[in-house]
Amino acid sequence: MGSERTGSDALARDLSRILPSSQVLSGQAARRAYDCDAYTIDRSPPACVVLPRTTDDVQQVVQYCLRSEVPFTPRGAGTGLSGGALPAQGGVVISTKKMTAILDVDVGNRRLHAQAGAVNKRISDAVAKHGLHFAPDPSSQTVATLGGNIAENSGGPHTLKYGVTSQHVLALTLIDCGREARTRQPRARRAGVRLGGVDRRFGGDTRDRH
Ligand SMILES: Cc1cc2nc3c(=O)[nH]c(=O)nc-3n(C[C@H](O)[C@H](O)[C@H](O)COP(=O)(O)OP(=O)(O)OC[C@H]3O[C@@H](n4cnc5c(N)ncnc54)[C@H](O)[C@@H]3O)c2cc1C
Repeated sequence: MGSERTGSDALARDLSRILPSSQVLSGQAARRAYDCDAYTIDRSPPACVVLPRTTDDVQQVVQYCLRSEVPFTPRGAGTGLSGGALPAQGGVVISTKKMTAILDVDVGNRRLHAQAGAVNKRISDAVAKHGLHFAPDPSSQTVATLGGNIAENSGGPHTLKYGVTSQHVLALTLIDCGREARTRQPRARRAGVRLGGVDRRFGGDTRDRH
């Protein structure tokens, strides 16, 4: 436990040079809180948890982890049932808890651009006044995040009619972990998800557009 503690503290010190120290957690309570997702049978505490706010923050943390050979695990709300956010090899959990912004809503083109930690239901709530919604609706939607939905290709009751998450993603910003961390942004299309809704082009026609 003593050497684990020292390892966590050293890692937290390094990461605090990248992010404000309030966004780097290494205390025992935090490490315990992030030692599993909703699949609770296996547990493995991370050495550290970071709470980036921007893609650039994430890119720098990933860069550090690659350089220092520290394993890292992305995490949204931690509602996954398959252990995907379990930091099996310790290291750093990169939580999108503070990346919740909806960046752009393009009602005309039914496109919305949000950060990875945006909560699924907040997306539908944000466009409900326009008669639109984000179709993938896992029953965890009040907390599950867009990043988690995409990684797990989640669906819900509306999936039979509208399809799963991958069918609603137009473009993504990815951090390429090849030799060094790089941000890859789509050239042709802006990042975002497709919004569904009632097609009003024919004056009151209620056919769905999908
Ligand atoms: C009560 C309950 C009900 C559920 N109902 C459903 C349901 O109806 N349908 C369904 O499909 N699922 C359901 N789930 C499973 C789960 O909620 C979904 O898989 C959800 O999409 C996970 O989102 P999350 O934000 O919690 O992701 P997390 O659990 O945090 O992460 C899931 C995976 O995504 C990865 N990840 C997260 N964010 C990123 C990112 N930004 N970049 C790269 N990788 C990332 C993680 O590493 C992990 O592998 C349910 C779970 C619970 C507990």
